Formats: sequence, C-alpha cells, structure tokens
Amino acid sequence: MQRLVILGGGESGVGTAILGKQKGYDVFVSDYGKIKDNYKEVLANNGIQWEEETHTENKILNADIVMKSPGIPDKAPIVKKLLEKKIPVISEIEFAAPFTKAITIGITGSNGKTTTTMLTYHLLKSAGLNVGLAGNIGKSFAQQVAEEQYDYYVLELSSFQLDGIVNYKPHIAIVTNISPDHLDRYEYKYENYIASKFRITMNQTQGDFLIYDADDEAIAEWFKNNKTKAQLIPFSLTKTFEKGAFIKEKKMEVNINDDEFIMETEYIALEGKHNMKNAMAATSVAKLLQIRKATIRESLSSFQGVEHRLEKVLKIQNVQYINDSKATNVNATYFALDSMNTPTVWIVGGVDKGNDYSELMSLVNEKVKAIICLGVDNKKIIDAFGNIVDVMIEVDSMNDAVKMAQRLTEKGDAVLLSPACASFDLFENYEDRGKQFKQAVQNL
Ligand code: ADP
Repeated sequence: MQRLVILGGGESGVGTAILGKQKGYDVFVSDYGKIKDNYKEVLANNGIQWEEETHTENKILNADIVMKSPGIPDKAPIVKKLLEKKIPVISEIEFAAPFTKAITIGITGSNGKTTTTMLTYHLLKSAGLNVGLAGNIGKSFAQQVAEEQYDYYVLELSSFQLDGIVNYKPHIAIVTNISPDHLDRYEYKYENYIASKFRITMNQTQGDFLIYDADDEAIAEWFKNNKTKAQLIPFSLTKTFEKGAFIKEKKMEVNINDDEFIMETEYIALEGKHNMKNAMAATSVAKLLQIRKATIRESLSSFQGVEHRLEKVLKIQNVQYINDSKATNVNATYFALDSMNTPTVWIVGGVDKGNDYSELMSLVNEKVKAIICLGVDNKKIIDAFGNIVDVMIEVDSMNDAVKMAQRLTEKGDAVLLSPACASFDLFENYEDRGKQFKQAVQNL
C-alpha cells in the first residue's frame, strides 16, 4: 500500500485525504496548527488518521508521496527534510487530476482569478454543461473528484497550487495578468513568481490553449524568453487580433476559429476596464468550447460579479458606497479607481506589502476628493498622497471610516473601500473587512 502523507488539515488537505483513501492509499494527515472540528469529523468518519499541533517526523519522512497544502511554504523545516530525502511533494491539483477524465480549465494570475473563474463557470453552466467549480474556491477539487463526476472543472489556481504540479495540465489555461504579490514566498524575486504562474502552461501540448493578457508587461517579458506548445489566445484593451479577443469601438470582439463573437460592452453587466479583460478571457473559453452566442450574451449580461470585488453596496442620499475589500494590492486598486466616474472618498490602508503607490498618483489626483487611512501602515500613504489630496484623515475602525466618509461626501459622490493592502492588522481577513464595511454602511 502506498503511503500518502498530507501536510495541512484544511480544505485541500482533507479533500486529498478522502480521495487518497478512496483510491487505496494508506493516508496520514499532519497539521502543525489546529485542525477545525468539522474537518476532524470528516477525517474520523472516513477512518483517516491525523495529528495536530505537531509533525511526527518518522511517520512523515516515511511517506511514498506527500501532498502539501498551498499555505505551507517550501522553507518549512518539515518540507526541507522531505525534499532532502527526495520524497515527492505535490499539490492537491497534481494529486487529484489523474483521477478524473474531466476537461479542466485552469485560471491563474495576480488579480481577477476569482472573478474570471466565477464568470467562466457561469457561462459553462448556463450552456448546460456538467461543470464543477474548484481550486481556491469552495469545496476542494480532490473531494469533488472523489464524490462527483463532472465533465468539466473550472479551477482557480494560485501560484502555490502551481508550484506543486509535475504533470498536470489544463486543456485551457488563463493567465489574467501579473503584478508583484506574495514575493515573500519567492525569495523576493519577481521572476520566480512570474515563472510560478507560467507553470500553468508547462505541460500543455498543441491541442491545448493559453489565454493571456497581451497588455501585460510581465507576461510580454515571459514570452520573450520562454515558449509554450499551447495555441495562444491573446486579449487586449488596445490591440486587435485575427485570433484573440479585444475591445474596439465600445464592442467586445472574440475571434476564435474564424467565428466572431461581438457584444456591445454596455450590455456586459460587469463594470470597469479590468472586468472587460476578465470578460474577454471567460468568453474565449466559452467560444473554444463552442457555446452558443446567444447563451454567452445572456450570461455576460446577467453576471453581476463577486462579493467584495467592486461590489455596489448601497446608495444613501445619492452617494454610492462600493466594497472592494478584495483589493489587497496596488494593481487591483488601480482598476477600482480607474472605474470611478464620480468624485470619490477613498478608504485605503492595512498591512503594506511593499507597495509602490506611484502608479496611482494621476488617478488619485483626478478622482479622489478625500482619503481616509485605516490601518497600521498609514504613514506611507500619507507620504505618497499628502500633497495631492486636500483632505487626509486617519481613523482606527471601519465604523469611524464610514461615518467620516459620509461627512465628507455630497450628492453624486462615491465612497470606495479599496485598501491596496492586506487586512490582518484590524480584521480576520478581507471578507471580514468587507462585511464590516457593509455593516457600517447599513448602519448609517
Ligand atoms: P483574485 O482571485 O486573483 O484575487 P479577484 O477576482 O478576487 O482576483 O479580484 C481581486 C481584486 O482585483 C478585486 O479588487 C478586483 O476588483 C480586482 N480585479 C479583478 N479583476 C482584475 C483584473 N483583471 N486586473 C486587475 N484587477 C482586477
């Protein structure tokens, strides 16, 4: 019996354990932290052994194969020891993929993964395809492979998931865009992070497709020095292609297999330039899978977006409140500010991730009437924008931020929470931050 050790008893660890057990492995789950009660129950019900708050080395180093959860870095001592012993350490996607015949669509990038994944899923599902949704979203891919049989999976893939692949390849891959993020996991080398994202295409062959943002500098740089066997489908806001997707005269055009899909952008429910990119990427998948144009059109006009991503919360006294709590880096905030059409009070701040605010300067100058700083790393924000915005205020809580924002607005303005920072100083996570914002707005 092959010994499968799983590091990390979270969603992907428990899912892999269930699948491993079903496929006849001798499974052991080890978590250096605590395992949630509901997961313990699932493990117990499946007769799977586990431990928490420790790593019993002689059991772990005795494995034939190890699945490492995406949250555990390569520099963790136990992982180093495994690698020294040349025991294969893989990700959940790598482990689970061989057990399904389904066609997978893998979506990665620095920003826009979730939105593009959800929209792609929506398009495929609306077309009546038997499709599952997994990766960083919801129920683990491994558990779904164990329990259900889909013909297609749309997978949101983080760079951490991709670091642990060996043979996995998606039939259709999307790289939404690349900007610096999570560099702490990549020895602070941007090129390592970019290389990690492009692992998504490393096993693809001629029959596969790679959809990518042709406006993105980091992606363009990668193509200069690297090759893929996949067929390329670029998308762009500024260029046009014979084969690819673009925006021309306020219309989105997707040209694939000599067949043109055209839709006026005003009928696409998502808003903002970044979302036109996400829509082009998702529509390209739909076209590759030969979904009917009427279905695509219907789906694009009905998909309202995902919570915490430029989410319209409420209009109070003709002031629109927008929750973009998921903007945890400067690039995401750039597109949020870019999409604002009215004078904006901007709530920003949190834990700085080595942010460079210079690319926001002209947008802030043009659109922002007041800045409310909420977080531990306010100083950098004040230094960056102090001279170009008249009103700059520091607050200590989301409630105060929202109340202050209301005071600073007049009819026709907007209040945008788009922090450009991580949330762990004052909140559990970005969802908690977004929920607190929405609650504070409801309380006004
Ligand atoms: P991810 O899953 O990659 O974090 P999300 O879809 O959750 O991406 O969006 C994260 C943040 O980035 C949100 O603030 C969202 O408005 C913004 N965003 C979405 N799509 C893009 C894009 N294509 N380019 C830049 N920012 C984007």
